[in-house]
Amino acid sequence: MKGRSETLRSIADKAFDVCVIGGGATGSGCALDSRLRGLTTVLLDAADFAGATSSTSTKIVHGGVRYLEQAVKDLDAKQYRVVQRALHERIRMLHNAPYLARPMEFIVPCYRRLDAAYFAAGLKIYDWIARGARLFPSRFLSREETLRRIPSLNPDHLVGSVAYADGQFDDARYNLTLIQTFAQAGGEALNYARVIAFERSVDGKLTACQVEDQFTHQRFTVRARAFVNATGPFADTIRQLATPGATPRMRLSKGVHILLPLEVMPGDDAMLIPKTEDGRVLFAVPWKGRLLVGTTEQEVTIHDELYVTKEEIAYLLRHLNRYLAAPVKPDQVVSGIAGARPLVSAGDSRDTKKLSRDHELEVDSQSGLISIMGGKWTTYRAMAEDAVNTVQKHLGIPVTESPTKSHPLIGSEGFTLDYWKKLASDYRIPEPTARYLAGKFGTVAAKVLDLAQEDPALAAPIVPDFPAVRAQVIYSARTEMAMTIEDVLFRRLGLQLYSWHSAIHAAPVVGSLLGRELGWSPDESVSTAREYGAKINRLLMLAGLEQQHDSTGAGDFS
Ligand SMILES: Cc1cc2nc3c(=O)[nH]c(=O)nc-3n(C[C@H](O)[C@H](O)[C@H](O)COP(=O)(O)OP(=O)(O)OC[C@H]3O[C@@H](n4cnc5c(N)ncnc54)[C@H](O)[C@@H]3O)c2cc1C
Repeated sequence: MKGRSETLRSIADKAFDVCVIGGGATGSGCALDSRLRGLTTVLLDAADFAGATSSTSTKIVHGGVRYLEQAVKDLDAKQYRVVQRALHERIRMLHNAPYLARPMEFIVPCYRRLDAAYFAAGLKIYDWIARGARLFPSRFLSREETLRRIPSLNPDHLVGSVAYADGQFDDARYNLTLIQTFAQAGGEALNYARVIAFERSVDGKLTACQVEDQFTHQRFTVRARAFVNATGPFADTIRQLATPGATPRMRLSKGVHILLPLEVMPGDDAMLIPKTEDGRVLFAVPWKGRLLVGTTEQEVTIHDELYVTKEEIAYLLRHLNRYLAAPVKPDQVVSGIAGARPLVSAGDSRDTKKLSRDHELEVDSQSGLISIMGGKWTTYRAMAEDAVNTVQKHLGIPVTESPTKSHPLIGSEGFTLDYWKKLASDYRIPEPTARYLAGKFGTVAAKVLDLAQEDPALAAPIVPDFPAVRAQVIYSARTEMAMTIEDVLFRRLGLQLYSWHSAIHAAPVVGSLLGRELGWSPDESVSTAREYGAKINRLLMLAGLEQQHDSTGAGDFS
């Protein structure tokens, strides 16, 4: 991908067929589909790509067993079709980027025979709906087999479990890779570019948007024949910019995850906790050397700050601990994430967990704005297909087949599951680094390591307890439009998720390398690292966890 300044020059005051607003899963999917159908396309995001909901998910590629249960209980054919479509998208998502997404087994522990029969029957229906897109069949596991697979499970009264398959993926990297693939196909993508107003023709149709660069506050115009609003939780803001007074449609549900040392639930399988006090399901999923546990559900607005609270940690651990032989304590939490599910309101449903995960397309008759709202990560491609079909109709051109059903994303070409071995031998790097880089970049990992061959100092790890290497910071800045320390540590490297404390330690190194690329002075690099450290310390404080005292050379974080 081109650098940010160069991209800015190529889009400011230029005209495109399509302007996609929002660089999360939905917008990136729309931009790629639009470009691959031959439309000149620009993608704008107000912050970092994947900077909102799309990097805070449970990272599961799924039809949704809970939504299926709801569909069956309520005899809801629409909900059933949502699950069915998602199950078919699941397999496409796995095939299009095999290094970023993989099948995973989920185990539902059962402490009563009746529960085992209920889940076994329900998950057979899940298999049946997936049919040809099934990953592997669900099955009952004996008590012994269940304890072999999850040794830390509470064995008292355990009768066995039901195992079923879904997928797991790296949400932030999947999002960034969609954008890279879009750029490779000739699209233009710019982050930190907020749409703040629209211009209209005499008949009221949108002709251009005004954009504000979030770093310089300079404004410019982007003209387009069609505008796609893919801003997830912020969809109403853009709808109201296009049509002042438009009725709000979005309901936001905050979801929180915590990360724990993997030792609390060792193994390769995930666990589904089928019922919480408030009728939800919880997941405990192995994630890049940690255990990801979530999620909660609480209605919020776009004005609420999203962070993990002490109470949410207590809620998640209370439920997890009912299933574990040795209880986990709050001080074992190493990091957390909070995000807002963009749900489309349906009548007066008071409970967000009952709102459908289906998506909705709206074409505003006055302005022509095309809004794609709701949905979930797993269905991003189908949402994009629907949105771009509508764009083509809006432009008065024939609706063509979506090319994204089977379009390998960058890094998938030539990728095999043992590709990491080639990296390890070609570049003489340790196995954990090779596995980590192959899982983040696929075959593009070679380009990252080429940087380290040119400058051997870049082969060094950023912090001792995490496999990321310094070359990734340079690569993030040059090729992936990383502009801040958080862009690098959270979404591009995943270190902020691995450990808040390690992320604080990494900040000065990342600040210095990123600063070199972006032209910061040494003082700026230090103060930026310090600000980042203070931000993470605040997250630790809000979560009721011990803060990091300065031991990094970056100064006082408080
Ligand atoms: C806790 C949680 C767990 C989840 N788990 C799963 C899961 O396991 N599997 C699954 O399939 N789905 C899951 N989901 C749902 C999924 O994450 C979301 O449906 C999806 O990420 C939404 O993507 P989006 O692109 O629509 O929105 P976002 O990712 O929020 O992107 C919207 C973008 O629009 C940009 N924007 C806003 N205003 C402007 C503007 N004025 N100008 C330019 N850009 C703007 C924002 O900066 C943002 O980047 C989960 C959601 C949550 C909250």
